[in-house]
Amino acid sequence: MRPRDKDCIFCKIVEGAIPCARVFETEHILAFLDIAPVHPGHVLVVPKGHYPTLMDIPAELGTDLADALSRVGRAVMEATAADGLNLMQNNFEAAGQLVHHAHFHLIPRHSGDGLTL
Ligand code: 5GP
Ligand code: ZN
Repeated sequence: MRPRDKDCIFCKIVEGAIPCARVFETEHILAFLDIAPVHPGHVLVVPKGHYPTLMDIPAELGTDLADALSRVGRAVMEATAADGLNLMQNNFEAAGQLVHHAHFHLIPRHSGDGLTL
Protein backbone atom coordinates (compact mmCIF):
# COMPACT_ATOMS: atom_id res chain seq x y z
CA MET A 1 0.00 0.00 0.00
CA ARG A 2 1.24 3.45 -0.95
CA PRO A 3 1.42 5.93 1.92
CA ARG A 4 -1.19 8.72 1.56
CA ASP A 5 -1.89 11.94 3.46
CA LYS A 6 -5.54 13.01 3.22
CA ASP A 7 -4.61 16.69 3.59
CA CYS A 8 -1.82 16.68 0.98
CA ILE A 9 -2.48 18.55 -2.26
CA PHE A 10 -0.17 16.30 -4.31
CA CYS A 11 -1.81 13.14 -2.91
CA LYS A 12 -5.13 14.62 -4.08
CA ILE A 13 -3.61 15.28 -7.52
CA VAL A 14 -2.30 11.68 -7.68
CA GLU A 15 -5.78 10.37 -6.77
CA GLY A 16 -7.42 12.64 -9.37
CA ALA A 17 -9.39 14.58 -6.73
CA ILE A 18 -7.68 17.80 -7.87
CA PRO A 19 -7.15 18.31 -11.61
CA CYS A 20 -3.73 18.78 -13.16
CA ALA A 21 -2.13 18.65 -16.59
CA ARG A 22 -0.52 15.19 -16.53
CA VAL A 23 2.49 14.79 -18.79
CA PHE A 24 3.85 11.37 -17.73
CA GLU A 25 2.69 8.55 -15.49
CA THR A 26 3.84 5.11 -14.38
CA GLU A 27 2.74 2.82 -11.56
CA HIS A 28 4.86 4.74 -9.05
CA ILE A 29 5.55 8.16 -10.60
CA LEU A 30 3.45 11.09 -11.87
CA ALA A 31 4.61 14.20 -13.73
CA PHE A 32 2.39 17.25 -14.25
CA LEU A 33 2.67 20.93 -15.14
CA ASP A 34 3.37 23.30 -12.25
CA ILE A 35 0.35 25.55 -11.62
CA ALA A 36 2.61 28.60 -11.24
CA PRO A 37 5.48 27.95 -13.65
CA VAL A 38 8.66 29.96 -13.16
CA HIS A 39 9.16 29.44 -16.91
CA PRO A 40 6.84 27.88 -19.53
CA GLY A 41 7.15 24.09 -19.47
CA HIS A 42 7.94 23.88 -15.71
CA VAL A 43 7.03 20.31 -14.70
CA LEU A 44 6.86 18.57 -11.32
CA VAL A 45 7.83 14.91 -11.01
CA VAL A 46 6.50 13.20 -7.88
CA PRO A 47 6.46 9.70 -6.42
CA LYS A 48 2.78 8.70 -6.13
CA GLY A 49 3.31 7.71 -2.51
CA HIS A 50 3.31 10.39 0.18
CA TYR A 51 6.96 10.81 1.17
CA PRO A 52 7.46 14.24 2.76
CA THR A 53 11.08 14.82 1.66
CA LEU A 54 13.76 13.37 -0.60
CA MET A 55 15.19 11.49 2.37
CA ASP A 56 11.89 9.63 2.92
CA ILE A 57 11.67 8.19 -0.61
CA PRO A 58 12.43 4.45 -0.48
CA ALA A 59 15.54 3.34 -2.32
CA GLU A 60 13.45 0.88 -4.38
CA LEU A 61 11.92 3.86 -6.21
CA GLY A 62 15.36 5.17 -7.24
CA THR A 63 15.45 3.56 -10.67
CA ASP A 64 11.84 4.54 -11.52
CA LEU A 65 12.50 8.08 -10.40
CA ALA A 66 15.76 8.44 -12.33
CA ASP A 67 14.10 7.01 -15.43
CA ALA A 68 11.12 9.38 -15.12
CA LEU A 69 13.37 12.43 -14.62
CA SER A 70 15.39 11.51 -17.68
CA ARG A 71 12.36 10.85 -19.92
CA VAL A 72 10.37 13.87 -18.76
CA GLY A 73 13.46 16.10 -18.88
CA ARG A 74 14.05 15.12 -22.51
CA ALA A 75 10.36 15.62 -23.39
CA VAL A 76 10.23 19.04 -21.69
CA MET A 77 13.33 20.20 -23.58
CA GLU A 78 11.93 18.99 -26.90
CA ALA A 79 8.45 20.48 -26.31
CA THR A 80 9.85 23.89 -25.42
CA ALA A 81 12.84 23.87 -27.79
CA ALA A 82 14.98 24.54 -24.73
CA ASP A 83 18.72 25.12 -24.68
CA GLY A 84 19.08 23.87 -21.09
CA LEU A 85 17.26 22.28 -18.18
CA ASN A 86 17.31 22.82 -14.40
CA LEU A 87 16.48 20.07 -11.90
CA MET A 88 15.52 21.54 -8.51
CA GLN A 89 14.40 19.85 -5.33
CA ASN A 90 13.57 21.57 -2.02
CA ASN A 91 13.39 19.88 1.38
CA PHE A 92 11.89 21.48 4.49
CA GLU A 93 10.62 25.05 4.77
CA ALA A 94 14.09 26.46 5.42
CA ALA A 95 15.02 25.35 1.90
CA GLY A 96 11.82 26.66 0.30
CA GLN A 97 9.64 23.54 0.38
CA LEU A 98 5.98 24.61 0.32
CA VAL A 99 4.33 21.28 -0.49
CA HIS A 100 5.38 18.52 1.89
CA HIS A 101 5.14 15.69 -0.62
CA ALA A 102 8.58 15.20 -2.19
CA HIS A 103 8.79 16.54 -5.73
CA PHE A 104 11.33 17.42 -8.39
CA HIS A 105 11.12 20.60 -10.47
CA LEU A 106 12.18 20.31 -14.12
CA ILE A 107 12.55 23.78 -15.62
CA PRO A 108 13.46 24.27 -19.29
CA ARG A 109 15.86 27.13 -19.99
CA HIS A 110 16.58 29.26 -23.02
CA SER A 111 19.83 31.07 -23.65
CA GLY A 112 19.58 34.59 -22.24
CA ASP A 113 16.19 34.01 -20.54
CA GLY A 114 17.44 35.94 -17.52
CA LEU A 115 15.74 33.57 -15.08
CA THR A 116 17.32 33.44 -11.62
CA LEU A 117 16.44 30.39 -9.56
P1 5GP B 1 8.15 23.76 -3.50
O1 5GP B 1 8.38 25.20 -3.14
O2 5GP B 1 7.43 23.00 -2.43
O3 5GP B 1 9.42 23.07 -3.96
O4 5GP B 1 7.24 23.79 -4.79
C1 5GP B 1 5.87 23.52 -4.79
C2 5GP B 1 5.39 23.73 -6.20
O5 5GP B 1 4.09 23.18 -6.30
C3 5GP B 1 5.29 25.21 -6.60
O6 5GP B 1 6.08 25.43 -7.76
C4 5GP B 1 3.81 25.41 -6.87
O7 5GP B 1 3.54 26.28 -7.94
C5 5GP B 1 3.33 23.99 -7.15
N1 5GP B 1 1.93 23.77 -6.81
C6 5GP B 1 1.32 24.06 -5.61
N2 5GP B 1 0.03 23.71 -5.63
C7 5GP B 1 -0.19 23.16 -6.86
C8 5GP B 1 -1.36 22.60 -7.46
O8 5GP B 1 -2.45 22.53 -6.90
N3 5GP B 1 -1.21 22.14 -8.74
C9 5GP B 1 -0.02 22.19 -9.42
N4 5GP B 1 0.00 21.71 -10.67
N5 5GP B 1 1.10 22.71 -8.86
C10 5GP B 1 1.01 23.19 -7.60
ZN1 ZN C 1 1.17 13.62 -0.47
